Amino acid sequence: MLFTPQKYKIKDQPEVPFIDKQEILDLLEEFSNPTTEQVEEVINQSLSLNRLSMQQVAVLLNSCTDYNHRKLITNAAKNLKKEVYGERIVIFAPLYVGNYCINNCSYCGFKISNKQAVRKSLSDVELQQEVSELEKEGQKRLILVYGEHPKYSPEYIAHTVKLVYNQHSKSEGSDRINRVNINAAPLDTDGFRVVKESGIGTYQIFQETYDTEVYERFHLSGQKRDFNYRLTAMDRAMEAGIDDVGLGVLFGLGEWKFDVMALIRHTNHLEACYNVGPHTISFPRIKQASNNKNLELQNVSDDDFKMLIAILRLAVPYTGLILTAREPIALRNKLIEFGISQIDAGTKLEIGGYSDKNEEQDIDKEQFELGDNRTLEQTISELIEQGQIPSFCTACYRKGRTGEHFMEFSTKGFIKRFCTPNALLTFAEYIERYATQETKERGWLLIESKLNAFDEKLRDDMVSKLNSIRDGQSDLLL
Ligand code: SAM
Ligand code: SF4
Repeated sequence: MLFTPQKYKIKDQPEVPFIDKQEILDLLEEFSNPTTEQVEEVINQSLSLNRLSMQQVAVLLNSCTDYNHRKLITNAAKNLKKEVYGERIVIFAPLYVGNYCINNCSYCGFKISNKQAVRKSLSDVELQQEVSELEKEGQKRLILVYGEHPKYSPEYIAHTVKLVYNQHSKSEGSDRINRVNINAAPLDTDGFRVVKESGIGTYQIFQETYDTEVYERFHLSGQKRDFNYRLTAMDRAMEAGIDDVGLGVLFGLGEWKFDVMALIRHTNHLEACYNVGPHTISFPRIKQASNNKNLELQNVSDDDFKMLIAILRLAVPYTGLILTAREPIALRNKLIEFGISQIDAGTKLEIGGYSDKNEEQDIDKEQFELGDNRTLEQTISELIEQGQIPSFCTACYRKGRTGEHFMEFSTKGFIKRFCTPNALLTFAEYIERYATQETKERGWLLIESKLNAFDEKLRDDMVSKLNSIRDGQSDLLL
């Protein structure tokens, strides 16, 4: 055993800020020259599905300069993704509800000081139209995104979530959004209770950077300037009963290795206080936005980005990893195999963009520039090419199994028994109802190729359900 059990300088307690910058820097320094033996020990720990400690993550981060160590890490991440998660990718779409904002985050097109920004909040009817468009494309999971403004009160957010759930374009159980996640400014505990009541799936909020000095440099005014209020947002969400939370860092602001360590510290904190880690982790990289030139940014190269994804995959094997359409198509396709479990597809960032068929992008109406403008169908077509099953599954959430990923990993064989079959069933429904003939034919070939991996009983059950889907039935889940 090369690592001693870890104790942190700041004791984990609900709502008490827990980031100690020096502690993270010291750990990175302590393991600055890892041996191959150490790297292999850490990887083995991860492959047996144990979350890594910060010491162990420091070993992996410091291995990035060694070619052989890099290979060990990326191969292990690929294996973990393939063997454990299976070749499936959960699909969702972001839906921007409103871009009024009182904050001044220098990188964001929605910041209060950007007078070029075209401000808008969707009316109820407009929101319903957006949802209807997304439903007609076959989307089942949305994340609603809001600026930070008194307009977007907990009651307003709850109202918009309920509107989405109640918008069914066609018959019950078919064209409908089954899971609504939100990305909204931190609330107080009572506010989170109101939002929880509306039935949200995941509450997502990014710390942007966990380095307090860098944070201060980029967040010039407004409530968001309060680092600790944001840092403890997940605590308040958990206390309000929201146990699916999504963490994230906006890479490009601070030093990336520091922020990866801090994400693990945040994970430890949630586990220590609430016995549950994050449902997802996101790692957006800064994109050009309206009025965000001349920022002093850290370069996170594509290679570094690949390593940070592979290391996160190994560090938190039970947490979903989200790769957004900020990244360009070719890179997205490549990075999937290193451990991504969710991607957005057919994304539009303009408020009202799903109903507005004008193809031209206007950066003053968007939060930032997209790297991937493919439609949902085009994205799905390329996933088929890669042998990845696009999944629209929301079964755990609908059956009251919150903490999806916890479920997947705590129950032996759960992924093979439920997640992969449900991915195939929801994908079959997608190609039958929404895809072009060509995608449909290629999709069925993919499904058939995946059936061989099941035992006879499950295969028979699947064949029968798939036949029913071909006959027009929907919502068949295990
Ligand atoms: N207003 C809320 C907030 O700031 O947390 C939620 C919505 S904000 C629109 C969602 C996320 O977009 C931010 O947390 C930030 O990480 C990301 N973002 C902002 N500007 C960006 C840019 N120029 N490039 C890439 N991502 C950006
Ligand atoms: Fe507002 Fe969020 Fe953009 Fe900051 S990142 S300016 S809080 S919308």
